[in-house]
Amino acid sequence: MRAIRSRVLHWPTDQWHQPEYFEDGILLIDAGKVLDLGPAARFIAAGFDVSTCEHYPTRLVLPGFIDAHLHFPQVDVMASFGAQLLDWLQDYTFPAEARYSDLVFAEAAAESFLDLQLRHGTTSGFAFCSSHRNSVEALFQAAERRQLRMVAGKVLMDQNAPQAILDTAESGARDSEDLIKTWHGRGRLGYALTPRFSGTSSKAQLEKTGQLAQQYPTVWLQTHLSENLAEIAWIKSVHPEYRDYLHTYEAHGLVPKGSLFGHCIHLTESETKRLADAGGVAVFCPSSNLFLGSGLMPFEALQAAGVELAIASDIGGGTSLSMLKTLADAYKVCQLRHYVLHPFEAFYRITRGNARATALDAFIGDFRVGQEADFVMIDPACVPLVARRVKDAKDLQGELFIYMTLGDEQLIVETSILGEPAYRASNP
Ligand SMILES: [Zn+2]
Repeated sequence: MRAIRSRVLHWPTDQWHQPEYFEDGILLIDAGKVLDLGPAARFIAAGFDVSTCEHYPTRLVLPGFIDAHLHFPQVDVMASFGAQLLDWLQDYTFPAEARYSDLVFAEAAAESFLDLQLRHGTTSGFAFCSSHRNSVEALFQAAERRQLRMVAGKVLMDQNAPQAILDTAESGARDSEDLIKTWHGRGRLGYALTPRFSGTSSKAQLEKTGQLAQQYPTVWLQTHLSENLAEIAWIKSVHPEYRDYLHTYEAHGLVPKGSLFGHCIHLTESETKRLADAGGVAVFCPSSNLFLGSGLMPFEALQAAGVELAIASDIGGGTSLSMLKTLADAYKVCQLRHYVLHPFEAFYRITRGNARATALDAFIGDFRVGQEADFVMIDPACVPLVARRVKDAKDLQGELFIYMTLGDEQLIVETSILGEPAYRASNP
């Protein structure tokens, strides 16, 4: 049992403008799950012994952040200079991913990556691994030891890349199926079929992946769509027989409800409508989109068209593992699209919103009774500029906006998994 008395904020419903906030709240956790949450006054009135609480009156407790799209082997190419998507893949990413064929290397990288994620307040992620089984095994083993709710998949790619990172339609399908059987639904882990994008998959590979999606309907599907104009033109030349980029997936049953498509920046009107009708999710990766010069995702227009949205770091195209920094970039991209991203919507998105978009909202993303107790604790005192600015915040939304605009991992003093600290700042 763990009792935390602090300022507590979450979104118990999908109405982002209706957060539930306790200025002096108590979060009770038992056996890794939320046992109760409410104002301290209610607990005191009921005779609860508040001396058993850890008391953090100036901190803010939020559900753990969820990163809906990231590449775990690409930590090593973050901040690589001077290229847009296709050159960036060839020059930096593909050589870096080739190293993940080695299990010992991949295991060390997975441990380091998960340490970093927890340091940044991210408790769940949707990870693209490399095309090597070892990279997936390494990540799942490390995530299982830490009891993380994590979804990951072996990248499928059988063409248009260096040999060292290519599979074949047959080996890719076989490895994916073996990994599904071993890892999907084991503890808190889940598997995602992960074709990199249709440019690096043959028609035969797309076909086999669609068959697996049908055969294993509870498995997730994640890929990329419409990131960069040169990429879209190239996809057209690689797969001239399809109507457009989305059709390369549709034609093979690769747009099941809930499938996750990174970017979706330059969709046509028809693609937008079809994505909405199919229940596909557009994953907004603002930091990556700015860094690689890919474009400004039309977040509001997609939402208005009925497309489900998620938000993500997309490291290593993204420049930070911090979902707070991701929100800062999201706000700026939306500004350039003449949409004001409200701080309540922003924090909803990286908690319950991403849980809902990825169909994990029955487990994580908020503090309803019975939910898994993954949470982060923010302490504004950790960053002098934030501490100074937040004193003048008029209300909760103003405070949150300061955190997402000026904050980063330095604000996180604790990240807990199933109620137990998995990261604690050494000098909060
Ligand atoms: Zn990506």
